[in-house]
Amino acid sequence: MEIRQTINVIGAMFLGTILTEIAYHIVMKWKRAKLKGNATDTVQTLFFPDREVACKDYFTQRHGCTNQRCKFAHDAHNSYGQLLRFLSCTCISLEVCVYTITCADLANILIGLHNKGVVVKIITDGEKENALGSQINRFREEGIQVRVDKSSYFMHHKFVIIDDKMLLNGSFNWTRQAVTGNHENLMVTTCPELLFEYRNEFDKLWKLYEPKVR
Ligand SMILES: [Zn+2]
Repeated sequence: MEIRQTINVIGAMFLGTILTEIAYHIVMKWKRAKLKGNATDTVQTLFFPDREVACKDYFTQRHGCTNQRCKFAHDAHNSYGQLLRFLSCTCISLEVCVYTITCADLANILIGLHNKGVVVKIITDGEKENALGSQINRFREEGIQVRVDKSSYFMHHKFVIIDDKMLLNGSFNWTRQAVTGNHENLMVTTCPELLFEYRNEFDKLWKLYEPKVR
């Protein structure tokens, strides 16, 4: 009798798991069907390296650059400048999922946003966490939430979600070399379908890399 009850319990649990899984997929399919991009969704590309170094003040400060003799680029097509502008305009949330982050200027923007009350979350790879110039420990010291892939595989993504409204994705690691030396790209879009997929990927990894309490 006890064996039969045990089998019934296991069967019910198994059925419950399957039904939950089916319900999840139905809901996801329904949510995807509701998302319809249109021609007005912003799609822009940023290619690196830049020929000139961007002026940080010009691209990030409300008053712009006040240095009459500034030698840095004010060119609206400067890719790094546009990246600085997109990041510094974040109002609510910034989710960064990038393999390696050593660029102190970009780190400073994230820390500044965090100090202004923007919710900043960072996912990165364990291999690069303590690499030379890594900004990850700085983020932790500032109280920014960081989760790290400790597996033997690489967390090799390079994407950012700004205010849940804009996605930046491409080959661009957050390093000085990527700005001034490498051939890299970033695609910038507000397409809801793509945002939905990358939002799911971020949430999935955020949960996966949650530190285990022992
Ligand atoms: Zn300037």
